[in-house]
Amino acid sequence: MRVLVAGAAGFLGSHLTDRLLGDGHSVVGADNLSTGERENLAHLAGEPRFTFLEWDICQPFTAAIDLGRVDYVFNFASPASPPEYKRLGIETLAVGSTGTRNMLEIAARHNAGFLHASTSECYGDPLQHPQTEEYWGNVNPVGPRSVYDEAKRFGEALVMAYNRSRGVNTHLVRIFNTYGPRLHPDDGRVVSNFMMQALRGEPLTIYGDGSQTRSFCYVDDLIDGIVLLSRTDEHLPVNIGNPNEFTILECAQTVLEVTGSESEMRYGALPEDDPIRRQPDISKARRLLGWEPKIQLREGLMRTLDFFRSKVKKR
Ligand code: UDP
Repeated sequence: MRVLVAGAAGFLGSHLTDRLLGDGHSVVGADNLSTGERENLAHLAGEPRFTFLEWDICQPFTAAIDLGRVDYVFNFASPASPPEYKRLGIETLAVGSTGTRNMLEIAARHNAGFLHASTSECYGDPLQHPQTEEYWGNVNPVGPRSVYDEAKRFGEALVMAYNRSRGVNTHLVRIFNTYGPRLHPDDGRVVSNFMMQALRGEPLTIYGDGSQTRSFCYVDDLIDGIVLLSRTDEHLPVNIGNPNEFTILECAQTVLEVTGSESEMRYGALPEDDPIRRQPDISKARRLLGWEPKIQLREGLMRTLDFFRSKVKKR
């Protein structure tokens, strides 16, 4: 296949690109580099089956951009960490709406498959635990996270509309917290912050009392699930994540053990609307894809250690 990956220079987009190339496909990777980094694709410099397009997908596709044939579109373009989407609020709303529509138009025109990266943020601060795909969520439409949450919820509606009205073969993955190499060291997420802080011997910044929970999925497991989903006929959302749930304090403790760091914990304010708990119910993915994650937090952090060590050295 010839595959278009929007957001190819990002954390997930670059891993997805590697996987698609590894499976023998050709990839056109588009990114405006607003949060993605060329470095994530640097190892593909000599790869003839990969083309990089520095392109903001909010700008309509024009003849000046030669896409050639497209068999599948993966729409992974968006700022995704809370500090980044707060900084780029309007851009986040634009890429979730206009950008996503432009990608859907390309899929419709080429009769290509389409997979959209949605998120557990669609569930907001969930009142149902764990979260199944049928849960409609508890989202603040005007809070600081709303730029991301509503962009992703609108994106899901848009994707379903292209499926129902235009017959596009669409897929929706709801991605839960994911980590691994290429997670941006400065993006402010919990794993990147804790790993960098631990390796530098600085205090680990715990927001609130650290009793809020997240369920962390290693990137390779996530990409496996996404690729399997892309081959199905399922159009409604599917949760992909690791159901192993940790408090933020437990996550901090695991980071200290894996890094061998003696950093202290420093407590700070809990950001507004920070979800209290989050855990995917992955029964649907198990049933539909025969998929479940294999790599648990400690092992995944070990696999991520060299990446963060190299970042500590560079800064
Ligand atoms: N968090 C923390 N310290 C940090 C960064 C994040 O305690 O340095 C907490 C944050 O308040 C949230 C959880 O870790 O409860 C996950 O935050 P992240 O930004 O990684 O993603 P989220 O799941 O909130 O989108």
